Amino acid sequence: MRNHSQIGNEIKPESATQPSFLLLPVNGPNRPHSLVGAGSIAWGIRRAITEGKIAQEAVATLRPQIYHPLMGVIEMGREQALILVDMQRGFLEDGYPLSCGTEAREIIPVVRRTVEEALDQGIPVFFTADAHEQNDREFAIYPPHCIRGTEEAEIIPELAPYLDRGTLIETVTYSAFFETDLHRRLQELGVEELTFCGVCTDICVLHTVADAYFRGYRIMVRRDGVASFDPDAHRFGLQHMKTVFGARLVGEER
Ligand SMILES: [Zn+2]
Repeated sequence: MRNHSQIGNEIKPESATQPSFLLLPVNGPNRPHSLVGAGSIAWGIRRAITEGKIAQEAVATLRPQIYHPLMGVIEMGREQALILVDMQRGFLEDGYPLSCGTEAREIIPVVRRTVEEALDQGIPVFFTADAHEQNDREFAIYPPHCIRGTEEAEIIPELAPYLDRGTLIETVTYSAFFETDLHRRLQELGVEELTFCGVCTDICVLHTVADAYFRGYRIMVRRDGVASFDPDAHRFGLQHMKTVFGARLVGEER
Protein backbone atom coordinates (compact mmCIF):
# COMPACT_ATOMS: atom_id res chain seq x y z
CA MET A 1 0.00 0.00 0.00
CA ARG A 2 1.26 3.45 -0.79
CA ASN A 3 1.61 6.04 1.91
CA HIS A 4 0.28 9.58 1.96
CA SER A 5 3.34 11.23 0.60
CA GLN A 6 3.34 8.91 -2.38
CA ILE A 7 -0.26 9.79 -3.07
CA GLY A 8 0.58 13.46 -2.66
CA ASN A 9 3.50 13.22 -5.02
CA GLU A 10 1.40 11.62 -7.67
CA ILE A 11 -1.07 14.45 -7.77
CA LYS A 12 -0.21 16.80 -10.58
CA PRO A 13 -1.70 20.30 -10.45
CA GLU A 14 -4.22 20.64 -13.24
CA SER A 15 -4.12 24.40 -13.37
CA ALA A 16 -2.06 27.03 -11.59
CA THR A 17 -5.15 29.22 -11.32
CA GLN A 18 -6.98 26.84 -9.00
CA PRO A 19 -6.70 27.17 -5.21
CA SER A 20 -4.06 25.36 -3.19
CA PHE A 21 -4.83 22.40 -0.97
CA LEU A 22 -3.18 20.83 2.01
CA LEU A 23 -3.05 17.04 2.26
CA LEU A 24 -3.17 15.81 5.87
CA PRO A 25 -2.95 12.30 7.30
CA VAL A 26 -6.01 11.34 9.34
CA ASN A 27 -4.30 9.56 12.22
CA GLY A 28 -0.80 10.96 11.93
CA PRO A 29 0.86 13.81 13.78
CA ASN A 30 -1.10 17.01 13.72
CA ARG A 31 0.90 18.75 11.05
CA PRO A 32 0.76 19.04 7.29
CA HIS A 33 2.05 15.83 5.76
CA SER A 34 2.69 17.14 2.35
CA LEU A 35 1.88 20.32 0.57
CA VAL A 36 0.26 19.75 -2.73
CA GLY A 37 0.46 22.59 -5.18
CA ALA A 38 -2.38 24.30 -6.91
CA GLY A 39 -4.82 21.91 -8.46
CA SER A 40 -7.69 19.59 -7.79
CA ILE A 41 -6.86 16.79 -5.39
CA ALA A 42 -10.27 15.23 -5.78
CA TRP A 43 -9.75 15.23 -9.53
CA GLY A 44 -6.21 13.95 -9.11
CA ILE A 45 -7.14 11.12 -6.78
CA ARG A 46 -10.03 10.05 -8.99
CA ARG A 47 -7.70 10.06 -12.00
CA ALA A 48 -5.07 8.09 -10.08
CA ILE A 49 -7.70 5.50 -9.14
CA THR A 50 -8.89 5.33 -12.75
CA GLU A 51 -5.33 4.84 -13.97
CA GLY A 52 -4.70 2.13 -11.39
CA LYS A 53 -2.03 4.07 -9.49
CA ILE A 54 -4.03 3.98 -6.26
CA ALA A 55 -6.45 1.24 -5.27
CA GLN A 56 -9.88 2.52 -4.31
CA GLU A 57 -9.56 0.49 -1.09
CA ALA A 58 -6.29 2.22 -0.22
CA VAL A 59 -7.93 5.61 -0.43
CA ALA A 60 -10.82 4.36 1.69
CA THR A 61 -8.37 3.00 4.30
CA LEU A 62 -6.09 6.00 4.40
CA ARG A 63 -8.95 8.50 4.48
CA PRO A 64 -6.64 11.43 3.76
CA GLN A 65 -8.06 14.86 4.40
CA ILE A 66 -7.75 17.99 2.36
CA TYR A 67 -8.34 21.54 3.40
CA HIS A 68 -10.65 23.26 0.99
CA PRO A 69 -10.77 27.06 1.32
CA LEU A 70 -14.55 27.17 1.06
CA MET A 71 -15.73 23.74 2.19
CA GLY A 72 -13.35 23.23 5.13
CA VAL A 73 -11.64 19.93 5.84
CA ILE A 74 -12.82 17.22 3.49
CA GLU A 75 -12.10 13.56 4.03
CA MET A 76 -11.16 11.97 0.76
CA GLY A 77 -12.71 8.59 0.14
CA ARG A 78 -16.06 9.89 1.26
CA GLU A 79 -18.00 11.04 -1.74
CA GLN A 80 -19.31 14.54 -1.33
CA ALA A 81 -22.32 16.40 -2.60
CA LEU A 82 -23.37 20.01 -2.24
CA ILE A 83 -27.03 20.70 -1.42
CA LEU A 84 -28.38 24.19 -2.10
CA VAL A 85 -31.67 24.62 -0.30
CA ASP A 86 -34.37 26.84 -1.82
CA MET A 87 -32.08 29.43 -3.44
CA GLN A 88 -35.19 30.75 -5.18
CA ARG A 89 -36.36 34.22 -6.14
CA GLY A 90 -39.32 33.94 -3.76
CA PHE A 91 -37.00 33.66 -0.76
CA LEU A 92 -34.11 35.87 -1.83
CA GLU A 93 -35.69 38.74 -3.76
CA ASP A 94 -37.81 41.58 -2.40
CA GLY A 95 -41.49 41.75 -3.16
CA TYR A 96 -42.41 38.14 -2.50
CA PRO A 97 -44.42 37.08 0.59
CA LEU A 98 -41.67 34.89 2.06
CA SER A 99 -38.65 37.00 1.12
CA CYS A 100 -35.91 36.54 3.72
CA GLY A 101 -34.88 40.18 3.33
CA THR A 102 -31.87 42.08 2.06
CA GLU A 103 -29.44 40.64 4.62
CA ALA A 104 -30.08 37.12 3.40
CA ARG A 105 -28.73 38.17 0.00
CA GLU A 106 -25.27 38.47 1.60
CA ILE A 107 -24.90 34.69 1.30
CA ILE A 108 -25.26 34.72 -2.49
CA PRO A 109 -21.57 35.38 -3.36
CA VAL A 110 -20.44 32.67 -0.90
CA VAL A 111 -22.95 30.18 -2.27
CA ARG A 112 -21.93 30.98 -5.83
CA ARG A 113 -18.22 30.46 -5.05
CA THR A 114 -19.04 27.23 -3.23
CA VAL A 115 -20.95 25.97 -6.28
CA GLU A 116 -18.07 26.88 -8.61
CA GLU A 117 -15.57 25.13 -6.35
CA ALA A 118 -17.74 22.03 -6.09
CA LEU A 119 -18.24 21.81 -9.84
CA ASP A 120 -14.49 22.29 -10.39
CA GLN A 121 -13.88 19.37 -8.02
CA GLY A 122 -16.41 17.14 -9.75
CA ILE A 123 -18.62 17.28 -6.65
CA PRO A 124 -22.29 16.91 -7.60
CA VAL A 125 -24.54 19.87 -6.85
CA PHE A 126 -28.24 19.56 -6.03
CA PHE A 127 -30.62 22.53 -6.17
CA THR A 128 -33.68 21.92 -4.02
CA ALA A 129 -36.66 24.15 -4.79
CA ASP A 130 -40.11 24.65 -3.30
CA ALA A 131 -42.61 23.78 -6.02
CA HIS A 132 -46.11 23.95 -4.60
CA GLU A 133 -49.49 23.23 -6.12
CA GLN A 134 -52.14 25.99 -5.98
CA ASN A 135 -53.94 24.51 -2.97
CA ASP A 136 -50.93 23.19 -1.05
CA ARG A 137 -51.57 22.38 2.61
CA GLU A 138 -48.55 24.55 3.52
CA PHE A 139 -50.67 27.60 2.64
CA ALA A 140 -52.64 27.06 5.82
CA ILE A 141 -49.45 28.10 7.64
CA TYR A 142 -47.75 30.44 5.17
CA PRO A 143 -49.14 32.67 2.45
CA PRO A 144 -49.19 31.04 -0.99
CA HIS A 145 -45.63 31.01 -2.38
CA CYS A 146 -43.35 29.37 -4.93
CA ILE A 147 -46.09 27.75 -6.98
CA ARG A 148 -44.53 25.48 -9.58
CA GLY A 149 -43.82 27.21 -12.85
CA THR A 150 -43.96 30.80 -11.54
CA GLU A 151 -41.10 33.32 -11.58
CA GLU A 152 -41.16 33.26 -7.80
CA ALA A 153 -40.22 29.57 -7.84
CA GLU A 154 -37.22 30.06 -10.15
CA ILE A 155 -33.66 29.57 -8.90
CA ILE A 156 -32.13 33.06 -8.47
CA PRO A 157 -30.43 34.41 -11.62
CA GLU A 158 -27.04 34.45 -9.83
CA LEU A 159 -27.15 30.64 -9.59
CA ALA A 160 -29.38 29.71 -12.53
CA PRO A 161 -26.38 29.47 -14.93
CA TYR A 162 -25.14 26.48 -12.91
CA LEU A 163 -28.44 24.61 -13.00
CA ASP A 164 -27.63 22.58 -16.08
CA ARG A 165 -24.48 21.25 -14.37
CA GLY A 166 -26.44 20.25 -11.29
CA THR A 167 -29.67 18.48 -10.42
CA LEU A 168 -32.96 20.19 -9.56
CA ILE A 169 -35.00 18.53 -6.81
CA GLU A 170 -38.50 19.96 -6.56
CA THR A 171 -39.87 19.75 -3.04
CA VAL A 172 -43.33 19.85 -1.49
CA THR A 173 -42.39 20.49 2.12
CA TYR A 174 -39.48 21.53 4.34
CA SER A 175 -37.35 18.42 3.85
CA ALA A 176 -35.85 17.87 0.42
CA PHE A 177 -35.86 14.13 1.15
CA PHE A 178 -39.64 13.93 1.63
CA GLU A 179 -41.33 12.33 -1.40
CA THR A 180 -38.37 13.09 -3.69
CA ASP A 181 -35.67 10.90 -5.23
CA LEU A 182 -32.82 12.86 -3.60
CA HIS A 183 -31.69 9.97 -1.37
CA ARG A 184 -31.73 7.47 -4.25
CA ARG A 185 -29.70 9.82 -6.46
CA LEU A 186 -27.14 10.38 -3.69
CA GLN A 187 -26.87 6.66 -3.06
CA GLU A 188 -26.30 5.98 -6.75
CA LEU A 189 -23.36 8.40 -6.58
CA GLY A 190 -21.99 6.77 -3.42
CA VAL A 191 -22.34 10.04 -1.51
CA GLU A 192 -21.62 9.87 2.21
CA GLU A 193 -21.14 13.50 3.15
CA LEU A 194 -23.31 16.52 2.37
CA THR A 195 -22.49 20.21 2.52
CA PHE A 196 -25.46 22.53 2.91
CA CYS A 197 -26.09 26.11 1.86
CA GLY A 198 -29.40 27.91 1.44
CA VAL A 199 -32.50 29.23 3.19
CA CYS A 200 -34.04 29.23 5.70
CA THR A 201 -31.49 28.00 8.20
CA ASP A 202 -34.15 27.05 10.75
CA ILE A 203 -36.79 25.64 8.38
CA CYS A 204 -35.91 23.91 5.11
CA VAL A 205 -32.16 23.68 5.77
CA LEU A 206 -32.76 22.32 9.28
CA HIS A 207 -35.39 19.77 8.26
CA THR A 208 -33.38 18.58 5.26
CA VAL A 209 -30.31 18.23 7.50
CA ALA A 210 -32.42 16.22 9.97
CA ASP A 211 -33.58 13.85 7.24
CA ALA A 212 -30.00 13.58 5.95
CA TYR A 213 -28.87 12.61 9.45
CA PHE A 214 -31.60 9.95 9.74
CA ARG A 215 -30.35 8.49 6.45
CA GLY A 216 -26.78 8.23 7.70
CA TYR A 217 -25.06 11.14 5.96
CA ARG A 218 -22.27 13.15 7.54
CA ILE A 219 -23.22 16.79 7.44
CA MET A 220 -21.43 20.07 6.94
CA VAL A 221 -23.23 23.40 6.98
CA ARG A 222 -21.68 26.60 5.65
CA ARG A 223 -22.70 29.08 8.31
CA ASP A 224 -21.97 31.99 5.94
CA GLY A 225 -23.94 30.23 3.20
CA VAL A 226 -27.24 29.90 5.08
CA ALA A 227 -29.70 32.59 6.15
CA SER A 228 -33.13 33.18 7.64
CA PHE A 229 -35.58 36.07 7.86
CA ASP A 230 -35.30 35.69 11.65
CA PRO A 231 -31.76 36.17 13.09
CA ASP A 232 -32.57 34.41 16.37
CA ALA A 233 -34.05 31.45 14.52
CA HIS A 234 -30.96 31.39 12.28
CA ARG A 235 -28.69 31.07 15.34
CA PHE A 236 -30.96 28.44 16.86
CA GLY A 237 -30.92 26.48 13.59
CA LEU A 238 -27.13 26.41 13.40
CA GLN A 239 -26.76 25.38 17.02
CA HIS A 240 -29.45 22.70 16.71
CA MET A 241 -27.85 21.18 13.60
CA LYS A 242 -24.48 21.15 15.35
CA THR A 243 -25.56 19.68 18.67
CA VAL A 244 -28.40 17.38 17.62
CA PHE A 245 -27.28 16.17 14.19
CA GLY A 246 -23.51 16.46 14.61
CA ALA A 247 -23.23 18.92 11.72
CA ARG A 248 -19.84 20.52 11.27
CA LEU A 249 -20.24 24.25 10.83
CA VAL A 250 -17.72 25.59 8.32
CA GLY A 251 -17.03 29.04 6.91
CA GLU A 252 -17.11 32.43 8.56
CA GLU A 253 -19.53 33.52 11.28
CA ARG A 254 -22.16 35.86 9.91
ZN1 LIG B 1 -43.03 26.20 0.84
